[in-house]
Amino acid sequence: MMILTPQNDPTKIGPTSFMTERNEREVRCGMCKRAFYVDDETYRFVAEAIESGLDDPYRCEICAEEYDDLAYEG
Ligand SMILES: [Zn+2]
Repeated sequence: MMILTPQNDPTKIGPTSFMTERNEREVRCGMCKRAFYVDDETYRFVAEAIESGLDDPYRCEICAEEYDDLAYEG
């Protein structure tokens, strides 16, 4: 059975660590503080969260996984 991960699934669109044609917006992960590039849609989501008072709401995929582990309680 083949397991799809973000790395080998070409249909999955996600943040990249470098600017691409699609990912033109820079966001910074609030946990590891690394910069990532995302598409407009993701950026808008992050920008809205910032406007609503959150500081560095973006989580990169690595930190998001850890965050999910913490969030799964009941
Ligand atoms: Zn991170």
